[in-house]
Amino acid sequence: ALYSSIDDKTEVREYFNNEGFSRWNKIYSDSDEVNTVQLDIRKGHDMTIQKILNWIRDDGDIAGKTVCDCGCGVGSLAIPLAQMGASISASDISDAMASEAAERAKSMGIKNAKFYTSDLESVKGRYNTVTCVDVAIHYPTEKMAEMVGHLCSLADSRVIISFAPKTWYYELLKKVGEFFPGPSKTTRAYLHDENVVREALERAGFRVARQEMTGTSFYFSRLLEAKRV
Ligand code: SAM
Repeated sequence: ALYSSIDDKTEVREYFNNEGFSRWNKIYSDSDEVNTVQLDIRKGHDMTIQKILNWIRDDGDIAGKTVCDCGCGVGSLAIPLAQMGASISASDISDAMASEAAERAKSMGIKNAKFYTSDLESVKGRYNTVTCVDVAIHYPTEKMAEMVGHLCSLADSRVIISFAPKTWYYELLKKVGEFFPGPSKTTRAYLHDENVVREALERAGFRVARQEMTGTSFYFSRLLEAKRV
């Protein structure tokens, strides 16, 4: 199990520094060089980001607070949160992704966000809010509870996490996808049992306050916001 998770990580890092970077950088932009599957994924992901921003906007108090975004990608969440006045510390295992996020923020004149290269387990510090969006798909099942626990240890008040839920229907889709990998085969993908995530949050002293599910044809994301009790 130890070796397979090291391999997973290396594979994910390599992927998001190379072909995964060009693929996801396009999806997470308004470039029209995307196919219909990628466009569907972009729309689904945009919905998840919008739901998070709406929650935070409704609370109305993020300005001046610290946010740690783990697996920040190209900054799709971190950048709008910085624009809302939060002080952002965002990291990604992929240097290409983190650098792109930094460049996007710089080109928009954003000064209250720093981006750096790090795997999630190595992130340290204490922040008001910790976010980790659509990253868990790269985490093997047996590492998930520990990963959630680590995110909680960084958070004073709130953790926002999303993951592809393990349901019979999504498992079936995934199997079909593996059977016909096609040209867009990426890395291994892991669906997660929602109860495992909830139990890990509870064990760390958090309680789920808000939840959402976003599902399009090719994008599935269960979103939980947990607050420290
Ligand atoms: N959170 C971003 C968003 O929602 O726009 C990016 C989501 S993208 C599907 C997944 C990201 O997770 C990639 O940028 C990848 O490099 C990063 N990632 C995967 N495993 C990671 C790990 N162990 N530590 C940190 N980042 C990781």
